[in-house]
Amino acid sequence: MRSLVTGGAGFIGSHLVEELLRRGDDVWVIDDLSTGSMENIEPLKGQSRFSYAIESIQNRQAMAELVDRVDVVYHLAAAVGVRLIIESPVKTIETNIKGTELVLELAAKKRKKVVVTSTSEIYGKTDSVPFSEDSDLVLGPTVKSRWSYACSKAIDEFLALAYAKEKRLPVVIARLFNTVGPRQTGRYGMVIPTFVKQALSGEPITVFGDGKQSRCFSWVGDVVGALSELARHPLAVGQVFNVGSDQEISIADLAHCIKDMTHSPSRVIFVPYDQAYEEGFEDMRRRVPDLSKIRALIGYEPKMSLGRILEEVIEYYRARPREYW
Ligand code: UDP
Repeated sequence: MRSLVTGGAGFIGSHLVEELLRRGDDVWVIDDLSTGSMENIEPLKGQSRFSYAIESIQNRQAMAELVDRVDVVYHLAAAVGVRLIIESPVKTIETNIKGTELVLELAAKKRKKVVVTSTSEIYGKTDSVPFSEDSDLVLGPTVKSRWSYACSKAIDEFLALAYAKEKRLPVVIARLFNTVGPRQTGRYGMVIPTFVKQALSGEPITVFGDGKQSRCFSWVGDVVGALSELARHPLAVGQVFNVGSDQEISIADLAHCIKDMTHSPSRVIFVPYDQAYEEGFEDMRRRVPDLSKIRALIGYEPKMSLGRILEEVIEYYRARPREYW
């Protein structure tokens, strides 16, 4: 298969590229390096089945040429991370909406399959876990910029499904839950790399809020394997799937777990949300996926437990000099 990965120099994107190359695909990447980095794709540069363009996905001509070349577009390019969303809300909304609009428009012209990566953030603040694909979305008010991310991704999903219905575009929507692994920087607020770096350097481990909020963390290798399977399965077309792990942990427990595993002298401290993000910040209390749909279709099963994931991430940072962090 010939595949295009938008955002292929990012954390999840670069793992997906490796997975697709392993499966024998020819792979193209387009990335503007806004949050991705050349280092992520550096080791792939010599491979004959790999090409890349450092360009914005909003460059119509560049995108049109790339879409022409491939059978399937994995659309991962997006604004990412709660911190970035709060700091740059205009960029978040524009990148997520305009970028996806163009990808879908160009793919529709040539009837190329598109895998749209969406987010668990879309479920918002509903507390009726686990979230299944047809659960209601419960978002906060527009004055709280965090929700612009979920809203922009919801528009992407509506648009993708509209293209599927009206223009017969083959689309698959994957709602990714918290994903972890090598190359995730923590620069944009992601909790596990942040806690691991704090623990390894003996700094306080900063739990936001009361720490009772919970998440389920999945290994990036499991996630990209699922994306590739979904793209190849004919019955996935026109459907929405949760992709993640359903092993839940509170953020306070996560902090203690990382402190213990690293034998760190760090203190675990609690930081009010107002200080951590902005006045009136709203968090999601729990976020647990119902995985029955993806299990039934592709036999998906997360292979890595949280313990193993944490071991790998700790090892990853231990093996690298601090300047690299
Ligand atoms: N979090 C935290 N300390 C940090 C970074 C994040 O307590 O230094 C919390 C954050 O408030 C959220 C959870 O960890 O409740 C997961 O945050 P992340 O940004 O990784 O992803 P989210 O699930 O919010 O998209």
